[in-house]
Amino acid sequence: MPRIQVLPPETARLIAAGEVIDRPASLLRELMDNAIDAGASDIQVEIQGGGSSSVLVIDDGMGMDAEDLALSILPHATSKIRGADDLLTARSLGFRGEALASIAAAACLEITSRSAETPEARRLVSRPGSAPTMEATHGRQGTRVLVEGLFDNFPARRQFQKRAQTEASLCRQVFADKALAHPAVSLRFTSEGRTLDRLPACESLRERVLALHDDPGEALVHEPRFTGQGFEGRAVLASPAFYRADRRFMQVFVNRRRIQDYSLISGLDQAFEGLLPGGAHPFAFLFIEMDPSLADFNIHPAKREVRFRDPGALRHAVMVGLSSFLRGLVRARPEGVEAGEEIGDSHPALDFGRQSGSAWYAPLPGSSQGPPGQGWEGLLRERPFSPQVPPGGTDTLGTEAGLADRLHYLGTTMELFLVVETGDSLYLIDQHAAHERLLFDELSSGKPAIQELLVPILHEAESDEEDARIAAMAELITGAGFGLERTGEGSWALLSLPALLAADPVGALRELLDSPEEDPRKAALATTACRAAVKDGDRLEPAAALELARRALALPEPRCPHGRPVWIRLTRADLFRAVRRIV
Ligand code: ADP
Ligand code: MG
Repeated sequence: MPRIQVLPPETARLIAAGEVIDRPASLLRELMDNAIDAGASDIQVEIQGGGSSSVLVIDDGMGMDAEDLALSILPHATSKIRGADDLLTARSLGFRGEALASIAAAACLEITSRSAETPEARRLVSRPGSAPTMEATHGRQGTRVLVEGLFDNFPARRQFQKRAQTEASLCRQVFADKALAHPAVSLRFTSEGRTLDRLPACESLRERVLALHDDPGEALVHEPRFTGQGFEGRAVLASPAFYRADRRFMQVFVNRRRIQDYSLISGLDQAFEGLLPGGAHPFAFLFIEMDPSLADFNIHPAKREVRFRDPGALRHAVMVGLSSFLRGLVRARPEGVEAGEEIGDSHPALDFGRQSGSAWYAPLPGSSQGPPGQGWEGLLRERPFSPQVPPGGTDTLGTEAGLADRLHYLGTTMELFLVVETGDSLYLIDQHAAHERLLFDELSSGKPAIQELLVPILHEAESDEEDARIAAMAELITGAGFGLERTGEGSWALLSLPALLAADPVGALRELLDSPEEDPRKAALATTACRAAVKDGDRLEPAAALELARRALALPEPRCPHGRPVWIRLTRADLFRAVRRIV
């Protein structure tokens, strides 16, 4: 007898089924996909035992007549494509014709369905290993699919399932993924008889995202749109005032399917770069609709992966689109909630992590007033700033009497914050963060004052890798005022550096070489700015403090290079409300 045998069809089907359906959540995904593809406007989901005992999905879609119902559970039976070419144009979620056949191989399946054209519904019942039966029954248009005892006949697979509670939460995640991508469909999710989600149909992705995740608060959530070659993008994102330490609220959908795509997720992170504190991640849901010929989902039977025709271009377009929207957002006064509205018993307005709409990052009031060209930025940019050398004392202030009148420096508190007042607002400015940001901008502008070193600082690379890294870095940082030149194999000399760092060239070189590898130029400039900036506890002359305050408040992006806010604002209304006075 030969060693090799062709497996019996029943076993072969069961093995193939495992590729598509590996746990209750994938079963639910397939059934919801079918309901959506059938044009349902309402989908009800009920699971028992985490979905292992039963999964029920009821939709009000187009339904099936008797003939289609009988065909639907056969392997490779689909109404969604006719041939391989259709894969390039298919917009449906399903197209492989495998789901119902796989389910029929691995569980008891009961489908009741009625199409618009047929007077009565049909019920199909299928059990693994026996021929399906069909009978006439009552029912409205649409389809009801009940799956029971998944993998009861396949112990090898069953043992991989987790506790019912875990499987139930995976099912709920699938439900949420489908719900997010299809806001026009009303949906309900019930587990063990308890309804956990009831989502009415809504008009926009933003509304649906908020229905499922309202943590950032409505005022902070936006829905920018952008386009690129062959695709349209939408994002539902919270302004940088809301962030998290994990990536739970970073999700990507392509053609209404949730995908795990590291490149796009990191593109989202990058769009927020400089706006969030280090290590923080945004609240950002990305929805891409693209020409199906540019995104191939036919890689994995469960369609978890996608191959893009041009992944680099897509990532870039997402980053640029969102980043320009975000820069506009931080520059503009936050809309919706007025400053101080949040202040209540627990003073949530002072909680940066969940800030929701107060004007912490708004430009100074009046900054857009006055004759053209006389804005804060224009006036301030003309004069170099150095807090160690106060700019001309009262004389200089005199020439800008209008501005000086509006801004009063009250002093420094906690050895860190400059306290300034203008109109009905009080600003607390982090002197280190503010100065750091200004220096960083100056260094990044490529025109810093340069100090030539009389005695070059020498450095020997310890390995070929370090040598290569320095070579790459040397080129990147020339524009920022560093003259780092090769003097031999593995030998380097620092010949010049930004004048700001002249006091400690050895330390500056060390920090430069220790900069993290990703975007070394930015990292090097940020470190440099941090070194040169005034520190906590440094005492500034009042005139220098005032000047620093003015420039900090005029920053279009008032965050330090690491993403922390540079200043906070408390309005009269904030303070009055805090002490329960009538404003
Ligand atoms: P696919 O979705 O890839 O076509 P399935 O095995 O999931 O494969 O379904 C087979 C066919 O059964 C579908 O192409 C569709 O015509 C029909 N069908 C399945 N579920 C539904 C439903 N809820 N409403 C209407 N038709 C359905
Ligand atoms: Mg399907």
